[in-house]
Amino acid sequence: MSFFTYKNGEMHAEGVALATIATQVGTPFYCYSAGALRAAWKEFADGIKGLNASVCYAMKANSNLAVVRLFGDMGAGADIVSVGEMHRALAAGIPAGRIIYSGVGKKPSELMAALEAGVGQINIESSAELETLNAVAGQLGVKADITIRVNPDVDAKTHAKITTGRKENKFGIDLDLAREAFALAGRLPNLKVVGVAMHIGSQLTTVTPYRDAIVRVRELIGQLRADGHKIDRFDIGGGLGIVYADERPPSIAEFMAVVARETDGLGCELTFEPGRRLVGEAGVLVGEVILVKPGSAKTFVIVDAAMNDLIRPTLYEAWHDILPVRQARPEAATIRCDIVGPICESGDFLAQNRDLPPLAAGDLIMVRSAGAYGAVMGSSYNTRPLAPEVMVDGTRFAVTRPRPTIEEMLSAERFPPWMEKSKA
Ligand SMILES: *Cc1c(COP(=O)(O)O)cnc(C)c1O
Repeated sequence: MSFFTYKNGEMHAEGVALATIATQVGTPFYCYSAGALRAAWKEFADGIKGLNASVCYAMKANSNLAVVRLFGDMGAGADIVSVGEMHRALAAGIPAGRIIYSGVGKKPSELMAALEAGVGQINIESSAELETLNAVAGQLGVKADITIRVNPDVDAKTHAKITTGRKENKFGIDLDLAREAFALAGRLPNLKVVGVAMHIGSQLTTVTPYRDAIVRVRELIGQLRADGHKIDRFDIGGGLGIVYADERPPSIAEFMAVVARETDGLGCELTFEPGRRLVGEAGVLVGEVILVKPGSAKTFVIVDAAMNDLIRPTLYEAWHDILPVRQARPEAATIRCDIVGPICESGDFLAQNRDLPPLAAGDLIMVRSAGAYGAVMGSSYNTRPLAPEVMVDGTRFAVTRPRPTIEEMLSAERFPPWMEKSKA
């Protein structure tokens, strides 16, 4: 079931016409469907039934407070990669004990803040970090629950910029060095090893790499136990793919069946850290056509949403479906066009070489599957205000992050004292 559908020729998010939101909020804006978010969560909640497992939402995919609270209220923990995200998780109502702190480069001050807040688990990615955390925990007089993230060296068969589980990636500790790292962790007095973690990439569309990785980590867990470590948790990470074009990612039920089979008898509590899969298809970006510029090679449709709002096409060569908000007549001819923003960069495009029904100034377009790694990666390049975020729930909608005014943007900056001009 899609939560974004045409009704009477107008694209709706659930029961709200996107054009109605555009009139009240202005463009560009992000729109999230609460129903779609709940449906995505339910797949995971159903999928882990019967397993000793929990789900921690990887907030970096979309850290909007309302989105995080929606998952938290349904029982989600949070996977965070910064202290900023920790404060968001807490502000959204997720208990500290349900927070997992991941990331390849945590500063001592950040580790201190996490321990002071009482986060439930810290995933460590290097021997140096083990030493740092041990020192910080000692200063605070606490024992930190940790896992060590290992790098199972499998090919996730995804885009180079979002694969993380190969030896040449910066993430995790190589399997052949893992026992040494666990031995070090075992010797450090202020750390308590609770398990092993992995995360092999993002936008995975088959379960095979997970299976291969679990097989390797399972073997490691056996060795670690023989070495005398207590390994109670296996954090499997996130990475499940969504539909942008014609991908056919596995259902959560299929994925969980494979995980259940491969971890059977292991005696570990499992953790999952999905990000994209929970939010990606639940969000869209809406923009308005500024003007249409016919060229000799192709037509450029210039819209008011740009690479600063959604950088995925530029950064990952990502393909996003683009639809007119007012449904085209079935017999309407199409034109070959690039949908581009107004930013002074040739890389500023949302889509290239698309066949779309003719668009004119003032028409609205919708960029699909923009709920993950969309708004969170936004910038104010060209002094363009961050696009607001809107949540729809049935026939209700609310702005969950307003568009900043230009005055608000400028007021965050200061002149050096010697450049101040005295006010008259
Ligand atoms: C990014 C990340 C995730 C989430 O990845 P998705 O592809 O969005 O599911 C989970 N765990 C860790 C450690 C991550 O870095």
